[in-house]
Amino acid sequence: MNALGTATREIASHTASSMSSQPNLRLLGPASLLTALVMLGAVSCTQPEPAAPPPGLSGSVAGYNVVLISIDTLRADRLNSLGYETRVTSERMDELMSRGVSFAQASAPRSLTWPSLASVLTGLYPSGHGLIANGYSLADDQPTLPRLLKDAGYQTGAFLSNMCKANHTGWDSFACAGGVDKKVNDSALAWLDEVDTSQPVLLWAHYFGPHPPYYNGGELARQLDPDYTGELLPKKWALDRVMTEPVELDERDVQHLDAIYDAAVIGTDRFVGRLLDGVAERLDLERTVFVLLSDHGEDLYQHNEYIYHACSPYQTSLHVPLAFVVPGRSGDAQVQQPVELVDVLPTLLDLLGLEQPGCQHGSSLVPYLERPTRGGAGKPAYSQYGEQKIRTFREANWKLVVNPDEYLPVCMANTPPDLYPIPQIGLYDLATDPGETNDLSQAHPERVGELLDGLSRHEESLCVPRGGTGTNAIDDELRKELEALGYVAG
Ligand SMILES: [Zn+2]
Repeated sequence: MNALGTATREIASHTASSMSSQPNLRLLGPASLLTALVMLGAVSCTQPEPAAPPPGLSGSVAGYNVVLISIDTLRADRLNSLGYETRVTSERMDELMSRGVSFAQASAPRSLTWPSLASVLTGLYPSGHGLIANGYSLADDQPTLPRLLKDAGYQTGAFLSNMCKANHTGWDSFACAGGVDKKVNDSALAWLDEVDTSQPVLLWAHYFGPHPPYYNGGELARQLDPDYTGELLPKKWALDRVMTEPVELDERDVQHLDAIYDAAVIGTDRFVGRLLDGVAERLDLERTVFVLLSDHGEDLYQHNEYIYHACSPYQTSLHVPLAFVVPGRSGDAQVQQPVELVDVLPTLLDLLGLEQPGCQHGSSLVPYLERPTRGGAGKPAYSQYGEQKIRTFREANWKLVVNPDEYLPVCMANTPPDLYPIPQIGLYDLATDPGETNDLSQAHPERVGELLDGLSRHEESLCVPRGGTGTNAIDDELRKELEALGYVAG
């Protein structure tokens, strides 16, 4: 058993000692359901039409183009198609998602860019691919999306706004836009003009998006919230001082922070729209698979008065949009079960009919793409936290946050040492408390015990990839570059 497993077992046994002896509630059993259905059938005069069989999608798009669009720091709950109603933010992204299947409860493996995007590329949690923080590189022999598709004859191009200095092998063409998302589009479309479109392409466009300091909103925040007279601005210094001084925000400031963030989402949506228009002019959409996702979300003062994401184990920063658009699969469907970004690679390989690497932590979502309304609680969702033993584990609507060592993360330089306290045990019912404001660990110790057991089983089940993991630690030059883009080490 690994160190975390030991720690969680210890907490589990401690919790078990305080468990109540209440019997578990049981749902209506299948026999009772069957009885009810038979009774319904007995009073019906006509037999229902048999449902059409779901499309068999495994291997159905072999050799098709793949366009992967990732947007840094995009919260799932700020997309209109995923329930946001305050203002229109995501017209073009929603239009894309409406052509496919979106996942309303997708989860990042870490609220930090490189570890999370590497999980998209490898199907592994950060402990598996080794990128436990920004600035680490993938191992040379790690199977990744570009390497696997290049081996299958794809032309591969990656056009990233940030996270540029890792080991990005497997790409025929690679460009970094230095945080300027317009350049992502320019270089991606220029590359599509050069490729042989009779052969399949893998295009990855990664946008800086609504990453702080939210400059993709430009002046739009003022238009969205013209009556605001406070001091909050989409500037790094203005946002940082909220935590470094700290400056306390009142309700009106937080409202304006939302407008600043939304403005950056709207600005990003326009960039994504321009890419989609350009792709439509250059590739056959009947032979193109799209994947849309973000690497993590953003805390906007909801937890510990924090603005940013790297320190957060909460849904504000772990809940991400995820959608697949697959030719031949009718669109506008939404899956409600929890899924994870580590599922992206196995799903794509399944769709394309390509062999899966020997070790992945995710699993194919093709069954959901074939039948989005399929029942069941879905799989657990899990996140890690760098070298720390902090973990989150979700089963259905219940989410556990564990911090066995009561570690206090350093979220930003020159901030108070207790900026982001994380409870040793936190339990949240996401169905009734999506904001994770009501810790139920004391009220439901039996649920804590179940989730700790589930977490331990999950970790013990994880395969270890052959060939090792990335080890290239961050250097000073890269650290300065990341800080200039608004990053801090987290
Ligand atoms: Zn990021």
